[in-house]
Amino acid sequence: MYALESELPDHEARLQRVLGVARDLSVITDRNELLRAITQTCCEVLGFGMTSIAILDGDGRFRIKAMTSIRGDLTMEDFRDYSMPFAEFERLLDVASPIGDIYWVDGSEALLEEMEQRGTVVATAPSVESAHWLPRSLLIAPLYRPPAEIFGLVFPDDPLDGEVPTIERAMLIATLAHFASLAIQLHENRSYADAQLRILTAQRERLSELFRASNDVQRAGQLEEILQTTADAVTSAGGFRRAAIYLRADDKLELRVTSGIEHNESLRLRENGPIELSRFAEIMQPQMRLSRSYLFETRKYPLPDELGRQLSIPDRTSPVGSGFWDPQDSLTIPIIESGRLLGVISVDEPVDGRYPDLEQVQALEFFADQAGIAVSQMMQYDLLRELAETDPLTGLMNRRSFWSLAERLVVSARGAGYQMAAMFIDLDHFKGVNDQFGHSAGDLVIKEAAANIQNRLRTQDVVARFGGEEFVVFLTGVDQVQALSLAESLRMVLASVAVPEVAGSITASIGIAVASPAVRRFTPRGLVEELLRLADSALYDAKARGRNRVQLGGVLDS
Ligand code: GH3
Ligand code: MG
Ligand code: MG
Repeated sequence: MYALESELPDHEARLQRVLGVARDLSVITDRNELLRAITQTCCEVLGFGMTSIAILDGDGRFRIKAMTSIRGDLTMEDFRDYSMPFAEFERLLDVASPIGDIYWVDGSEALLEEMEQRGTVVATAPSVESAHWLPRSLLIAPLYRPPAEIFGLVFPDDPLDGEVPTIERAMLIATLAHFASLAIQLHENRSYADAQLRILTAQRERLSELFRASNDVQRAGQLEEILQTTADAVTSAGGFRRAAIYLRADDKLELRVTSGIEHNESLRLRENGPIELSRFAEIMQPQMRLSRSYLFETRKYPLPDELGRQLSIPDRTSPVGSGFWDPQDSLTIPIIESGRLLGVISVDEPVDGRYPDLEQVQALEFFADQAGIAVSQMMQYDLLRELAETDPLTGLMNRRSFWSLAERLVVSARGAGYQMAAMFIDLDHFKGVNDQFGHSAGDLVIKEAAANIQNRLRTQDVVARFGGEEFVVFLTGVDQVQALSLAESLRMVLASVAVPEVAGSITASIGIAVASPAVRRFTPRGLVEELLRLADSALYDAKARGRNRVQLGGVLDS
C-alpha cells in the first residue's frame, strides 16, 4: 500500500522543486550541462544515490550521456562501453511493471542477469541494505518526443530509502522526465534552427545567383525553374515536407510546381483544375494570419469539404495531439508583388510536427517574395510582348497599348498605395517646323524628342506616342513634387533637342495631373481617362501662357 498520508508534505515540497527545475532546465544552452542537471535533480530532489540518462543514438542504441552519483563511486568512464539496442529495451519492458508512467524491473528478474552478462545492464550496489531494491533493480523513465516516440531513458538508481517508489514518487519522476524531454527537445530545436538557418542562407544565395544570372525573367522555362527552386527550398530548408506553388491566372489559382509530393498525387492535384480565387479568399480569415500568411488549423476552422477535396487534403487518419500539426492543416503564403496577389505557396507537414512560429513563417515569406519578383517580371514581359504594337517611327508604345498598360498600372498602384501622375507633352509650333524644313525633318525631330523622353524615365514608367507630336507619360510611385520636377527636366531636355536638318530651337509644353491611390470613385480606365483629361487641359493652359512650360492641372485627392 502507498503511504499517501505520510508522503504528502514531502511530495508537495518535491513537486514544487520539480516544477521549479523545469524553468531552470529550459535556459541551459549546453547539452551536456542540461543532461547533468537532469540527473542531478533526480538524485537530489527525488532521493536517489545515482541517476543516469541514456539517449537513443542514430544507430538505434541507447547510450549513457550523463550521470550523477552521490557517492561518487561510479563515473561516466564506467559507462563508456555501455549501449543497449532498442530491441533489448523492448524486452525489458516486457518484464517490467509500470508504476504510473515509469517502469520498474525487479532485480531478481532472470532477464536482468542475462543482460548484465551481455553488458546492457549495469549492477550497482545499493547504499542501504534492502529486501526490495537489489543491485540489478531498475527504474526507467522514458523521454518522449511527440506523438509517442521514445528518444531517451532516465534511470533513477539506488533509492536512498531502499524502496520501490510509490505511485506519487513515480509521478514526480515522470514529471521530471517530462520536463527533461521538453528541455532536450527545445535544445535540439535550437540546434536544428541554427542548422536550418545555415541551409536557408545557402538557399538564399542560390536563389540570388539565379536572379543575378537572369536579370529579366523572359522565358517560361526560366520562371518554372525559379518556382521549382523556390518550392524545393521550402522543403529542404523551410522546415516543411511538402510544398506546392499556385499562380494566379485571372480569377483562378493554377498549380505550377510541387516539391515533396508524389508524382501521382501531383497529377491528381493538377487534374482537379484551377481553384477559384474567391473560394480561397472566403476562407482566409483574419484570425488565421501569421505574419502575412494564413495558417489553416482545420480543427479550429474547418474547411468546406469541397475545397478540401480540391486541394487533395487527406482524410483525418489518426488523432493528433492538440498543439501539433494535423494532417488536414496547411499554411498558405501569399505571393504578393506591388500589392497584387500573384499566387500562393501552400506548405504542409512540418518536419518537427509543430506549428511554425513567426520567424519560420517569415523565412518562408522570403521565398514567396523571391518568387513574386520572378513572376511579376515574367508577367511584365508577357504583357509587354502582348502589347508589342509600338509606334514604328519612335519605337514608343502606341495609344492602344498605352491604355491597357496604364489600366493595369492603376490597379497595382492602388494595391501598393502609390501616387499616380500623367503628363501630356506637345511640341510647340510644330506645324512651322514641317512647313519650314519639310515633313521628314519633322519626323526626325519627333524621333529625337521621343528618345530623349524615354531616356529620362525609369523602366517602370510608361511613355506613349499619342498623336503626331504628342506624347503621354504615365508614372506611378511618384508624388506631385517629384512628378513636377521630372516634367521640368523633360521640358529642359526637349528644349535642347537638335537635329542637323532643323535650324532653330524646338520646345515643348507639358500638362500634368496627379492622383492619390485613395481616389476610388473611378474604374482604373476611368481614372486614366480623368488624369489624361486634366493633363490635356493643363497642356492647353501651358500653350496659352506662352508655351515651353510645365503646367500642373488637376490633383485628384480623396
Ligand atoms: P502648338 O502645339 O504649339 O499649338 O502648335 P502646333 O503647330 O504643334 O499645333 P498642333 O499641335 O495642333 O499641330 C501638330 C502638327 O504636327 C500638325 C502636323 O503638321 C504635325 N504632325 C503631326 N504628325 C506628324 C508626323 O508624324 N510627322 C511630322 N513631321 N509632322 C506631324
Ligand atoms: Mg499637337
Ligand atoms: Mg504642337
